[in-house]
Amino acid sequence: MPSYDYRCNSCGRKINLFYKSYKDYDAATAAGTHTCPHCGSRQLTRLISRVAIPKPGRDYKQMSSNEMLSVMEGGNSREVGEMFHELGADQGITDPAFGEITERLRGGDSPEAIERDLGTSDSGE
Ligand SMILES: [Zn+2]
Repeated sequence: MPSYDYRCNSCGRKINLFYKSYKDYDAATAAGTHTCPHCGSRQLTRLISRVAIPKPGRDYKQMSSNEMLSVMEGGNSREVGEMFHELGADQGITDPAFGEITERLRGGDSPEAIERDLGTSDSGE
C-alpha cells in the first residue's frame, strides 16, 4: 500500500496519506483531492521521503544522483542552492553565472524566476 508524506499548508502539520494503490494515488493527484485529515485543506506539499529533513552539515558530495534529483524536485531553493554551492566549491567551478544562480537560490529565489531573468539578459545584450 503506497503512502506519502505531506506538509499541510493550512495547519502546518506533517501528515501521511495512504492509498489502496498507485493508481488511486495518481488519480487523487490528477484530481487534486489529497486532503489533510486534521483541517480538511487540500493545500498540501508533498515531502520527498527518500531524503530526510535537511540538516546542517549534510554532505552533498556523498549524495547519489537520485538523492540530488530529490533535492531539486523538493523545490526548496535554499537547499538546492546549498547543494550547488558545495558541489561548485568541490569541483572548482568559477563560472560567474553558476555563482550567481547559486547565490540567488541560497537567497530563496525560485529556479523559475532565475531562469526567466537569465533568459531575458541573454537576449537583451
Ligand atoms: Zn491541515
